[in-house]
Amino acid sequence: MRVEAVTDRLTSRLTIHRAPWLLPIRHPPLADGGIAVRAGRIVDIGDFKQVARSYPGAEIIDHPDAVLMPGLINAHTHLELSHLAYLSQDPSPTSFTGWIGHMLAERAKADADKKTIQDAALAVLVEQQRQGVIAIADISNTDLVRELIPEFPGNLLCLKEYLGLRASELTASLNSLKEEAGYPDYPEVYCTAHAPYSTHIDLLRALKNRAIQLGQIFSIHVAESTAEHDMISQGTGEMREFLEQRGFWESSFQPTGSDSKGSVSYLHQHGLLDSRTLCVHCIHVTEQEMDLLAENGAKVCLCPGSNRYLGVGTAPVEHYLRKGILPALGTDSLTSNPELSIWREMRLLAEEHPGIDPADILRMATLGGAEALGLDRQLGSLETGKAAAISVVKLPESVQNAFSLAECLVYQDIKSNSVYSLAYPLNFY
Ligand SMILES: [Zn+2]
Repeated sequence: MRVEAVTDRLTSRLTIHRAPWLLPIRHPPLADGGIAVRAGRIVDIGDFKQVARSYPGAEIIDHPDAVLMPGLINAHTHLELSHLAYLSQDPSPTSFTGWIGHMLAERAKADADKKTIQDAALAVLVEQQRQGVIAIADISNTDLVRELIPEFPGNLLCLKEYLGLRASELTASLNSLKEEAGYPDYPEVYCTAHAPYSTHIDLLRALKNRAIQLGQIFSIHVAESTAEHDMISQGTGEMREFLEQRGFWESSFQPTGSDSKGSVSYLHQHGLLDSRTLCVHCIHVTEQEMDLLAENGAKVCLCPGSNRYLGVGTAPVEHYLRKGILPALGTDSLTSNPELSIWREMRLLAEEHPGIDPADILRMATLGGAEALGLDRQLGSLETGKAAAISVVKLPESVQNAFSLAECLVYQDIKSNSVYSLAYPLNFY
């Protein structure tokens, strides 16, 4: 009698989810697996029969023809640009700076209408959730997306972006940064920088220092185009001309002075690379710069869809993996990517890098993203103690083994109608 009572108490409100496949991410895929969940936490995971034996009387929920995997992480997007989605329906631009100029001009036209911006952002947010995305790092210049945090049941991390290269604007930028609300009253207020080519070095330092003091991640666009590389390394080229034409150039800007030292070297030289620095894009990076990223534990986020549309090149993904860097994946915005889907990002990356194990690509979209956002204690893999942020993805009948499972998930164009989420965790920020 007493034993029964104890067992009842232990198993109360405990549910076991059973599926033909589990994809734990940190461990090999499991056939006929079970995940025991209580109060939004994974309490056990393994062979279904073993898990079921450990929790007699638990409710069992079957997910036939499906794989259970961790929620996806979108480590880089700009939801507040969603209303400009028509830009990426045009043919790819002929130059990176031409695209920036066009995007800024279109944005200036439409920026007045708050409702249009928020409605478009919310539509993307809802679709991300439907696709099984559990955490998002969003970059914006306004507070419009931050107001949408309650609409997303996962983790929507809003980073307010600062930029401005000119020394004459520095004091104003630093003053407004000082006035930003922060932890503990507003722990969700993150401030970050646009890019090394658009942000004065003193402003970069101030933003990074703020992030360090608040224990926050610091996200920045890095090594996205050759135009950026030429300016950062030699102070010349298309980007400098673009900035000069618009009156944004700063004559005191100090390039690294070496063709082999681009934005990663520049950030390192100024002490801005550490384990909470999230370098987004990282396409034009030398072997030595990859070592700098690895040695400093800096995080990398790749955006294959945006890179393809803008024609800026492909990141050296194989090299990153070889150096022990597990990149995250991000969609970037609808202005540079015709579709915002981490599933599509995985497929594009696999097409461009056919030698990479599909299991590694799945790790990028889950664990890589969780590490990049500092959420890997809660998200990114299915493990005992982590949040039960589990996605159920319907599988075609053809999946026979672990390899074809990973291949199928990466190459199959998975849409939101074949995914649903079992549970969303509370916001961990
Ligand atoms: Zn971006």
